[in-house]
Amino acid sequence: MKIYGFEKLSMVDFDGHLCATVFTGGCNFRCPFCQNSSLVALASPPQISEDEFFAYLNKRKNLLDSVCVSGGEPTLQKDIVEFIQKIKQMGFLVKLDTNGAKFDVLKQLVDEKLVDYVAMDVKNSIGQYYKTAGAIVNLEQIQKSVELLKSNVVDYEFRTTLVGEFHSKKSIEEMAKWLEGADKLFLQHFVDGGTCLEQNLTEVPKNEAEKFANILSKTIKLVKLRGY
Ligand code: SF4
Repeated sequence: MKIYGFEKLSMVDFDGHLCATVFTGGCNFRCPFCQNSSLVALASPPQISEDEFFAYLNKRKNLLDSVCVSGGEPTLQKDIVEFIQKIKQMGFLVKLDTNGAKFDVLKQLVDEKLVDYVAMDVKNSIGQYYKTAGAIVNLEQIQKSVELLKSNVVDYEFRTTLVGEFHSKKSIEEMAKWLEGADKLFLQHFVDGGTCLEQNLTEVPKNEAEKFANILSKTIKLVKLRGY
């Protein structure tokens, strides 16, 4: 596993837990609003080796209870299953951040009980997906991942970063139909930190985000704003 970013201690990446967060490199999406453009493009070398990472975990067993595996897109990594198996064998909980485009990998991780929590990005309505993901992505895989998580085989959340150029009342209404019956959706505040793949994108203001949340709340059990 090549670890392109490493946060030794996070209190925000896995709700209710103290975790270490690893960022894998590379992604099959090119979301224009992606804040991790250097990870996506593999612009800098890996930060630490896998051996160093496990040595750190071993030392911090009493402080940390979990690891957040993020990216880039972690499920693209050939050895992701073995990597997470090793973390689980050490007794840590695992949260996975994913764009859901590798259904088979997600299903294996869930079936083998290697992940305790999955945060899956749902970028937009199906009709707006290519534009919002910045790539021709495999919608069938993404839809299968959504259905897998909706079946409550693992604790999960969906999350959508709201961007003025991509989200509208219409696309949100379509998302509400698609995600009907889901447990949790977070509508995340886009802030241009200057590292995005595309410049000059605009945020969705809070009053608009609240209107979107009301629409989505009709079909999803819990809809919350995050970062507003
Ligand atoms: S899915 Fe999009 S936001 Fe997430 S790492 Fe890939 S390009 Fe960035």
